[in-house]
Amino acid sequence: RPQHCLLDDEEGGVLFFSAPANSSSHGFSNLERQRQRLPVFKYRTAILYLVENHATTIIVGETGSGKTTQIPQYLKEAGWADGGRVIACTQPRRLAVQSVASRVAEEMGAKVGEEVGYTIRFEDKTVQGVTKIKFLTDGVLLREMMDDPLLTKYSVIIVDEAHERSISTDMLLGLLKKIQRRRPELRLVISSATIEAESMSIFFQTRKKNDVGAAEANGPKNLPSILSVEGKAYPVEIHYVQDPVSDYLQSAVDTVLLIHEKEPLGDVLVFLTGQDDIDAAVQLLVEEARVKTTKFSGLLVLPLYSGLPRSDQDLIFAQTPKGKRKVVISTNIAETSITLEGVVYVVDSGFSKQRYYNPISDIENLVVAPISKASAKQRAGRAGRVQPGKCFRLYTEDYFVKEMPAEGIPEMQRSNLVSSVIQLKALGIDNILGFDWLASPPSESMIRALEVLYSLGILDEDAKLTSPCGFQVAEIPLDPMISKMILAADILGCLEEMLTIAAVLSVQSIWTSVRGKNKGLDEVKLLFAAAEGDHVTHLNVYKGFLQSGKSSQWCYKNYINYHALKKVVDTREQLGRLVRRLGLVPKSCEGDTQTIRKAIIAGFFSHASQLEEYGQNGMYRTVRSSQEVYIHPSSVLFRVNPKWVVYHSLVSTDKHYMHNVIAIDPSWLIEAAPDFYQLRTLNPALF
Ligand code: ADP
Ligand code: MG
Repeated sequence: RPQHCLLDDEEGGVLFFSAPANSSSHGFSNLERQRQRLPVFKYRTAILYLVENHATTIIVGETGSGKTTQIPQYLKEAGWADGGRVIACTQPRRLAVQSVASRVAEEMGAKVGEEVGYTIRFEDKTVQGVTKIKFLTDGVLLREMMDDPLLTKYSVIIVDEAHERSISTDMLLGLLKKIQRRRPELRLVISSATIEAESMSIFFQTRKKNDVGAAEANGPKNLPSILSVEGKAYPVEIHYVQDPVSDYLQSAVDTVLLIHEKEPLGDVLVFLTGQDDIDAAVQLLVEEARVKTTKFSGLLVLPLYSGLPRSDQDLIFAQTPKGKRKVVISTNIAETSITLEGVVYVVDSGFSKQRYYNPISDIENLVVAPISKASAKQRAGRAGRVQPGKCFRLYTEDYFVKEMPAEGIPEMQRSNLVSSVIQLKALGIDNILGFDWLASPPSESMIRALEVLYSLGILDEDAKLTSPCGFQVAEIPLDPMISKMILAADILGCLEEMLTIAAVLSVQSIWTSVRGKNKGLDEVKLLFAAAEGDHVTHLNVYKGFLQSGKSSQWCYKNYINYHALKKVVDTREQLGRLVRRLGLVPKSCEGDTQTIRKAIIAGFFSHASQLEEYGQNGMYRTVRSSQEVYIHPSSVLFRVNPKWVVYHSLVSTDKHYMHNVIAIDPSWLIEAAPDFYQLRTLNPALF
């Protein structure tokens, strides 16, 4: 036992450790030396000690201190993966899963998919009996509980990035707490970038009333301990704008150019919100740099967002060539999940894409929303990793001090809970309101979710999963409405088509879009456009892609995103395997688009809207909540304005826009969901 640990078990308070003497690093490879330089290395013994002696260990440490890449390796080195056991490490983001897995594999001199592997939805790079350290999304671990409720193959589960409070992380923590009572030998490590640790600690200490479990004796072992990793961070100078900016994208580009002109070399990390504005900013920056700076050739501009192809991801981590300046324009994935070396300047737009759900209107949206002070601090911190840095905030100091919220709201409290409810039900948690939540979800959202699941025929009157529909839907790792659509397609005989549609809907967009230059795209879309709407159009594109021999040339010519379509082919194959496992046999309806639309409605009947005002882009009203909505310009039905439509999703910018829309006959709605539509007043004159 290391002597330098002053453990104060009973209290479970914050502990500080003095560093053990560093072992000599002679004879180690470069990577090994890099590992030893990370702040977390000094705590190696302490971490192993705590994990051995506590059911739950909470580790707080600065981003980049080595929590994610090192702790799984320490545990493996200490024998936690012996005897066929596996160490799991969860991440809220898929891209982070892939990125840390490849880094850790490299550090261990292995290939990804051997000793170190990863699993994300539709992609499993692990081998049973071989993989010892497994990175996976929190959502995938939740899914694994359906087959193995006690997660028996894992010896240690590291719940990483817990401060993000993703909906799946919150659910996992509640469920893992339950599992611990049945599996006292299981170790949990909760790792977080901010001091959310106290509330986590209290959560793991307190027992729910009437929660009967094996570990009755509440000894010190069951009290979580908290360890703070003290990182070395350099000071970061904060700059604010004088007046609020009206266009943060333009302002970000201007700021980068200014940095490039005036500041010494050092990489720049720009925080924008999503793929759209990042791609636009990359383009704008390259264009303006060409015109406005003499040092254009010294700039290396790269985007960073999930869904980025692997080759582009590698560029992000590659060392900046001598004399050049790398500019990475990123979503908030670079806030804590991924650390880039060499960043000296941060440009913070003050925004991120966040999920917001309104249970009254039943609209869930990814909206560009202001970040919290905690996020702003994290972002600024990215500039001080290698030397003193600067952070340029594209908002005023006054705004930061007076208006920016201190903390973000957990995703659980601003999400549609349909998927969460069905997962908990599938895990046998019947009383969902009484579940041991880290923070309770709003009851209106819960009621809405139960209502939707009931009308989809996934839950019965007693709020239990129906058989077989409910259980099958729970098995498919997609939005329950899509899963229902797939099951209906099986019954109606158009499963082949529906697998393609579901796969297309699971990627961001199959079209390449360039801000302000959509004319060519619009023309090409007409070639594929189907009068029935976007889903059928997707089928045409997919068919064309296959006929071209999956050619990238063909995609380029037709403004189609080649990587997205490759992903569609992959996903479709996976879905095909999955539905066969459920006993379904894919059949084709041979172009009967009415059948296809009816199957879509079986899942999406609640997303119906009726045209109210004709015009260029006519106004619709949703049947469910009488919201004013419009067909999105990217839809092939944008100018067509059918009387009745069903949409896949709503996205709000200046208006509520329906994305992926099909034209329908309203009588199909009543056919698909008589109970649901009995309660609503559809205008009988329309039938
Ligand atoms: P933490 O989880 O505490 O934020 P990490 O373990 O992710 O820290 O990072 C430790 C170090 O490893 C950082 O210096 C980071 O830059 C480096 N690193 C992580 N992933 C990669 C990668 N894919 N390629 C290169 N370096 C990486
Ligand atoms: Mg990390």
